[in-house]
Amino acid sequence: ATPDTGTKVTEASRVLARVFGYDSFRTGQQDVIEHVIDGGDALVLMPTGGGKSLCYQIPSLVRAGVGVVVSPLIALMQDQVDALNAVGVRAGFLNSTQDFDQRRTVEAAFLQGELDLLYLAPERLRVESTIRLLERGKIALFAIDEAHCVAQWGHDFRPDYLALSTLHERWPDVPRIALTATATRATHREISTRLGLEDARHFVASFDRPNIQYRIVPKNDPKRQLLKLLREEHDGDAGIIYCLSRASVEKTAAWLVEQGIEALPYHAGLDARIRAANQSRFLREDGLIIVATIAFGMGIDKPDVRFVAHLDLPKSVEGYYQETGRAGRDGLPSTAWLAYGLADVVQQRRLIDTSEGDDGHRRRLGQHLDAMLALCETVECRRVQLLNYFGETGTACGNCDTCLVPPESWDATIPAQKVLSVIHRLWNERGQRFGAGQIVDILLGKQSPKVVQHGHDSLKSFGVGTELRDVEWRGVIRQLLAQGLLAVESDYGVLALTPASAEVLYQRREVRMRREPERPAKAAKTAK
Ligand code: ADP
Ligand code: ZN
Repeated sequence: ATPDTGTKVTEASRVLARVFGYDSFRTGQQDVIEHVIDGGDALVLMPTGGGKSLCYQIPSLVRAGVGVVVSPLIALMQDQVDALNAVGVRAGFLNSTQDFDQRRTVEAAFLQGELDLLYLAPERLRVESTIRLLERGKIALFAIDEAHCVAQWGHDFRPDYLALSTLHERWPDVPRIALTATATRATHREISTRLGLEDARHFVASFDRPNIQYRIVPKNDPKRQLLKLLREEHDGDAGIIYCLSRASVEKTAAWLVEQGIEALPYHAGLDARIRAANQSRFLREDGLIIVATIAFGMGIDKPDVRFVAHLDLPKSVEGYYQETGRAGRDGLPSTAWLAYGLADVVQQRRLIDTSEGDDGHRRRLGQHLDAMLALCETVECRRVQLLNYFGETGTACGNCDTCLVPPESWDATIPAQKVLSVIHRLWNERGQRFGAGQIVDILLGKQSPKVVQHGHDSLKSFGVGTELRDVEWRGVIRQLLAQGLLAVESDYGVLALTPASAEVLYQRREVRMRREPERPAKAAKTAK
């Protein structure tokens, strides 16, 4: 890095052009860069693809000393360093994948002032020898990438990040810049306190990604729905398909290949070499699809991802935003498509109930899920709802499913009462709780073996719900869960009433639901 001069701004734009080959800064970049070059601390909230890297790379080149970048993305460090070396920036990294000699070479370069940027895995900073090493060199700045990893409120918490709070105690004069694409107010506040960045300048970019079209559909026949999306809208496009479990990743990828669509699996249980190979093929080849758990994607910079499809419900709006944000980084039209159904809600609620941690933790997870469900069930613009979640306001966007085909809502009070009263009777009269399948069979008056076995055909509510079909009842139950009018209890996914259920049963509280597109006209009529 060249020493500080009085002409920092021009120096920054010169580096932008000469080193990185860009003519102009993107929105927000220049302010951050100037501030950090001047030695100020910064907290930068910028959406994925917004161009966060330059915000610390350019100041590292302009300021004297080495820019130390803390990043959890060990798998990407080699790529990042290679890309920097390719444009003549002297970069190196230290992480657990290296042997002693490799580490020594990088350490020597650092000490001799032969590095502009040094990438570090956060756990390195817990090793005393790393601290001693850093103390012997000259540091231009500390960049804390993926800073939301310090937030317990968020979904990527890494305990190693907590140690980063000591950086400014040891190096009070070195500016720190924390960057993240996650920006709920709660996360934002937590990053700020945990990293001691209350006095830092906060740079908040808009989180809107106007080129992404958001669509959320009820999950009926997910494979067929997915295939239709791929064949009709994204033939030959690169995309990411997210599944919740490793097993469904493998099954979905194999199934797509059978359908003649090139798809590669990615999840943490795969052999590390296969995982790396699949990731690098996805990055380098055109038109490949990667089927992955959420282990895939953090820090992935592939500009032409045309779609992100979720076959399972994300756990939070933040997760959903991050994952869908990997689409369309080049600014061209892209699709964020999510299919979700009753089983997702039941499964997620159960995961929360059985998750480790204290009640507070479970309550937070529950709030995350509720916000996600509210986004799924909204009849308003998805983008407005999404941006609201991040504290931004906006007007209907015209580029999401609810704007394009405004959903009707319908008065579902009577069906809701029927569902709730079956559950109420089972519990009150028999002390029993059941899952959605049994409730629906009772409503439909189906003499299934399990209905007969429990004598549920003698319940007063048996067969009171023939006006809706099986899938429609499941839709009603799903929306009741989403609205907090029903709860899932225990490991078995049995349904129970909530305090709000009583308002529907006894106080005639009106229940409105989003009309499912696939609802046939017959059912729609009787429901009114
Ligand atoms: P983020 O870390 O915010 O997700 P990156 O720093 O990886 O984003 O940048 C996303 C992409 O935008 C990269 O390909 C990067 O080279 C490109 N980029 C960043 N800044 C500029 C700029 N000023 N002009 C043109 N392209 C840019
Ligand atoms: Zn919209």
